[in-house]
Amino acid sequence: RRRDVWLFNRQQLDDDLAVIELINQTAEEDISRAHTDFVANASHELRTPLASIIGYVETLLEGEPPATPEIRQKFLGTILNEANRLQGLVSDLMSLSRIEAEKHDRPQEIVLLKPLIEKASMDAAGLERQPRLDFQLDADPTVSGDPRQLEQLVRNLVDNALKYGDPAKPVTIALSTTDNQEAKLAVIDRGDGIAKEHLPHLTRRFYRTDPGRSRASGGTGLGLAIVKHIVERHAGRLDITSQQGQGSTFTVRIPLNEVSPENV
Ligand code: ADP
Repeated sequence: RRRDVWLFNRQQLDDDLAVIELINQTAEEDISRAHTDFVANASHELRTPLASIIGYVETLLEGEPPATPEIRQKFLGTILNEANRLQGLVSDLMSLSRIEAEKHDRPQEIVLLKPLIEKASMDAAGLERQPRLDFQLDADPTVSGDPRQLEQLVRNLVDNALKYGDPAKPVTIALSTTDNQEAKLAVIDRGDGIAKEHLPHLTRRFYRTDPGRSRASGGTGLGLAIVKHIVERHAGRLDITSQQGQGSTFTVRIPLNEVSPENV
């Protein structure tokens, strides 16, 4: 009987090992597919503005009859736009890869969130859009983190809210603390909102609900992927809620720093 039990266990063990092997293989295939997809998407995103730049420059150089000064000016403007888009894309790709590479070491600096949020929001808005910012900074929490990354997180969320929100309406930037000892930042716009089916995918790289609109407004499709990584590095959480026709709210919660004045 003991031998039967042993045989049974051995069989069970073999089965378990086979299942583990299968899971590992599937996980590896998933990672490898995600990597290939990412490289393909990134190459496509880089190629499109490059092709457009080359096309306009060739037309300017070889156009017969030569372009009028007005056309020249217009083409140069488009070339500059496309070059800026490339620059944005390369800088977002570099941010993403840097944050991913560092994901195992927790950033440790003590960061005062209130001034950081004010500054990053103003930077994101630029002079023209600053009047739309509605600050409701009702707390003065500190967290432990990487100030450069936290600034980028705020810039990305505020830029999106201004870009996709109703240009005639304000964007609210609210800072508070929660009973769970977290700093809570909510960025609220009053735009068209986001359809429910898109919500779970928004933080995927290059995912856009309206690619034409995103590109036209200088979007790279990487902003929210970067936000998600930064939030995770700070042991935090990102929640997105939206009402179609009313607007969207992006909420970030990050644990308070232990010696925070909010925490005593
Ligand atoms: P993008 O560079 O395209 O803005 P993001 O990663 O920042 O890339 O956002 C991904 C997509 O999520 C956007 O293309 C847009 O469709 C949607 N999105 C992000 N923020 C908002 C918002 N505040 N309101 C509506 N849609 C949004």
